[in-house]
Amino acid sequence: MLLIDIRTGSYHFVQAKAVLLATGGGPTMYLYHTPSGDKSCDGMAMAMRLGLAMRDMEMVQFHPTGLLAGTDTRMTGTVLEEGLRGAGGYLLNGAAERFMTAYDPAGERATRDIVSRAIYAEMRAGNTTTNGGVHIQMSHLGPDSVAKRFKGMVERCADCGFDLAGGLVEVVPTAHYMMGGVEFEIDGSTALPGLYAAGEDCGGVHGANRLGGNGVANSTVYGGIAGDAMAAAVSKAGACRDPDETVIAEAVDRAERPFTKPAGDLSNLRDRLSQMMWDDVGILRTEAGLHRGLGALDDLEQELLATGLADGDRAFNLTWHDWMNLESLIAVSKVITHASLAREDSRGAHFREDFPETGALDTTAYTQVRQKGGGLAIDMVPVAFSIVKPGDSLIDDDAGAPIAAAE
Ligand SMILES: Cc1cc2nc3c(=O)[nH]c(=O)nc-3n(C[C@H](O)[C@H](O)[C@H](O)COP(=O)(O)OP(=O)(O)OC[C@H]3O[C@@H](n4cnc5c(N)ncnc54)[C@H](O)[C@@H]3O)c2cc1C
Repeated sequence: MLLIDIRTGSYHFVQAKAVLLATGGGPTMYLYHTPSGDKSCDGMAMAMRLGLAMRDMEMVQFHPTGLLAGTDTRMTGTVLEEGLRGAGGYLLNGAAERFMTAYDPAGERATRDIVSRAIYAEMRAGNTTTNGGVHIQMSHLGPDSVAKRFKGMVERCADCGFDLAGGLVEVVPTAHYMMGGVEFEIDGSTALPGLYAAGEDCGGVHGANRLGGNGVANSTVYGGIAGDAMAAAVSKAGACRDPDETVIAEAVDRAERPFTKPAGDLSNLRDRLSQMMWDDVGILRTEAGLHRGLGALDDLEQELLATGLADGDRAFNLTWHDWMNLESLIAVSKVITHASLAREDSRGAHFREDFPETGALDTTAYTQVRQKGGGLAIDMVPVAFSIVKPGDSLIDDDAGAPIAAAE
């Protein structure tokens, strides 16, 4: 592993018999996003550079209710929890109308993907509130009760000047979680000997959608399994292999690149990336939009490679780290866009307006993208239903019946 010590900017090579990739994904390439800005899909970008296969990368989950607090605060995009809608909160468009039941009989209690699409459709139709989102209303449930039940959410909104318990708060769908990631085995190992992966860097655990509360479970369960497997493997492994000095030199050269170019405007590149991903590779996708997105990503990549840093100091040079983060985000955005083009149906978090049908489940396939030569190779790999076949259930009684039968 080659590490950069952020305090000095110096490089440190660390030899290890086993390495766990656990940088946690984080779809921060979208205009509105819940993870903190330092999350930039670094682990996925590293895995790509190693030639590992990524699966399900089109499956980006948008949480329906991100706070819309204006353009000048990072609180915009931060999540307002699911429980608000679960408890009976209303979503109101710019005309103060409840709109969710027009999209789904479950109304505001529909799943994240359905509610996000409905809000986005209202936004696209111009039925928005002042800052371009919709309102969440809780006051009809009793302000005192809301303040008691959702203390953290009420305080978060109050910090930004909004009254969640008694008033209206503007919200917008916000990129929250990546169901896609590195392909891995049940013990956490990957196709690269000695490299393990766990958590949001991994693909395939949640399929096309994720239920609230299961993200941390994924990290802890598979993190624990990978840790056990790594300990067992390390105890059997021989001495570390000699490092390949050429590979290390190449990695240092890559990191040093921005110091060799004239200073440029990284914020502008990042803003263009997030706006484009929101518009063209976001909640509702079309072939034309995705092609537009790929063109824009090529341009952004070229511009980034020609953009340098004003400050040549290595210690605590956060702009340098922003540069590398942007490189990761652009690389992973390309994978998301290619996978979204390849999947010509709509399921879970992925919705193609030009292919709105879900398609047959028993013949379904997942997307697999890997770096090959100078580009990306994309395959559709048939899903092997090895434990539960479509329409079957592991639960015997009515609780396990297909949804239509059990209502
Ligand atoms: C706002 C928010 C609320 C959420 N709420 C819930 C919830 O209620 N329940 C639930 O189950 N899930 C929730 N999730 C999802 C869940 O938090 C994540 O899926 C989970 O934390 C991922 O775990 P992880 O270990 O893979 O990565 P993380 O917990 O993200 O940890 C990755 C770590 O790697 C570090 N890192 C990243 N890149 C590098 C690098 N290049 N070098 C060194 N370090 C690096 C990061 O700083 C971070 O500390 C939420 C997510 C968000 C953003």
